[in-house]
Amino acid sequence: MVAQEVFWRSKSLQEMTPSEWESLCDGCALCCLHKLEDEDTQEVFYTSVVCHLLDFDTCRCTRYEDRCKLVPDCVKLTPQDVDDFHWLPPSCSYRLIHEGKDLPEWHPLLSGRQETVIEAEASVLSWYEVKDDEIEVEDYVDYIIE
Ligand code: SF4
Ligand code: SF4
Repeated sequence: MVAQEVFWRSKSLQEMTPSEWESLCDGCALCCLHKLEDEDTQEVFYTSVVCHLLDFDTCRCTRYEDRCKLVPDCVKLTPQDVDDFHWLPPSCSYRLIHEGKDLPEWHPLLSGRQETVIEAEASVLSWYEVKDDEIEVEDYVDYIIE
């Protein structure tokens, strides 16, 4: 008997159902770190400044349904935006699949446990230093992650 191919290896991002698309997110919350863009080169730099709406126990957004209303910079990813995925962190599942790569072994879809993301030090909890309501925007540059 041939084992059924898992959806993230057999489908493109655009072919996934809404629930498959949602399950692809590993919950790392690295996209909740503030980013700075070089206006000349469009290069994106991640900072260790994180959105104040993140729950630091669960690594989840505390206002997920209202996130785009409350935080204008918060981006809701859609399959139509795949060409812009270069700004996502290299470990982001959507970026990996878009680039034709596989998911890491700590991804909840492979491990069967959400906690493996944090245990593998792949979540924002291993990177953030301050919340964005603790410092001024002008100071974000001091927190660029090398
Ligand atoms: S970086 Fe990607 S995988 Fe991680 S929380 Fe954001 S959208 Fe999900
Ligand atoms: S609003 Fe929620 S999802 Fe958006 S950046 Fe903040 S914590 Fe992350």
